[in-house]
Formats: sequence, C-alpha cells, structure tokens
Amino acid sequence: MAEATSTLDALEIGSSRLELVRGDITAQSVDAIVNAANSSLMGGGGVDGAIHRKGGPAILEACRAVRARQGRLATGDAVATTAGELDARWVIHTVGPVYNGGDAREPELLASCYRRSLEVARELGATSVAFPSVSTGIYGYPVEPAAAVALSTVREQAVLEGSPALLRFVLFDQHTYDAYAAALGRLGSAG
Ligand code: ADP
Repeated sequence: MAEATSTLDALEIGSSRLELVRGDITAQSVDAIVNAANSSLMGGGGVDGAIHRKGGPAILEACRAVRARQGRLATGDAVATTAGELDARWVIHTVGPVYNGGDAREPELLASCYRRSLEVARELGATSVAFPSVSTGIYGYPVEPAAAVALSTVREQAVLEGSPALLRFVLFDQHTYDAYAAALGRLGSAG
C-alpha cells in the first residue's frame, strides 16, 4: 500500500516559524540570506552567482577579506559578510558537500552547513533567515534526502536559545518545493 503523505508549508517550533516558499532568494527581505557558496568564496553559478550579481561588488570584497584572514571555507562551515545591495543585513556563506554517492559523509556535511549557518545567525542576532536548498543544484545532492537533512537539522536548531523567529526556505523550482513540502509533512507528522 502506498504510504499516505501530507505536505506542509510551515511548522511552528517553540517561538520560531519554519516555512517554505517558492521563489528567488535574492528577492527576500530578511536579516540574513544563506548562500550555497564554494570553498573559494570567489563566486560561482546558481544561487551564488545570483547573490553576487544582485548584491554587488561589496560582497566579493568582503569574501576576499575573509579569504585573506582565514583561507578557504571548509565544506560544512559558514561565515557571514555584508549583504551589499540585497535587502538583508548579512549573507551567510556556507559550503555544501558535492554529492558523491552518499557514503562520503554527505548527510553529515550537509547537516553541518545548516547547523553552522544558524550558529552564525545566532551570533549576529539575526531574527529572520532565508535558506536555499544547499547542494541540490550544481553539487548534485538528490533533493529528497537533502530536504530531509535540511529540515530536520533546522528544526533541531530552532529550539535553541536565540534562534531566529523566522526560518524560511526559498525554493527555486516546483520539484524542489514539492520535495521540501513532503519532507516537512513527514517531519510534522513524526511530532
Ligand atoms: P550547490 O552548488 O550547493 O548545488 P546551486 O546554487 O547550484 O548550489 O543550487 C542549489 C539550489 O538553489 C538549486 O535548487 C537551485 O535551483 C537553487 N537556486 C538557484 N538560483 C536560486 C535563487 N536565485 N534563489 C533560490 N534558489 C536558487
């Protein structure tokens, strides 16, 4: 028998709201926008390209300063810079794992991206954060398992002291949105 699944587009967790929207992350008005960056921090395609294009050169300049200070950003880590001309205070750059079959610690590294991004957000005092679907574009992570990791990690972090009140996933295409809505439905019904 097929498993009965219901989709969800939002979940209240303590005093935080975890929600899913379909759209372009560069159009969000939030305190912090998370970027699916690469270790070089020098820009790239996908969300990264869109953030640098719309945010302007101040973001790349700030990324260069981070590189000079601490070198490349490790997979699973996160660091904040200015958001330049975006309607946000900060961009939090995180580096997702390149998917390589699933046995190379990809789930752990992907969870680390969301955990570290939220640690940085709490340190900054951000009250609203927008996340893309890290690793499921150019880095090839299959969206169904990536959605489960992303949402369960963010839910686990949402109960921590100082967690942002709004945790919003901004999903670019319908397939990705549907996968996240199904994963959130499973998370919600699991209690
Ligand atoms: P990665 O290299 O981590 O896989 P990508 O940027 O290639 O990152 O893709 C991650 C996800 O972000 C994909 O689902 C892609 O469709 C989506 N994406 C691309 N541009 C945007 C955007 N402007 N806003 C939100 N999501 C986007």
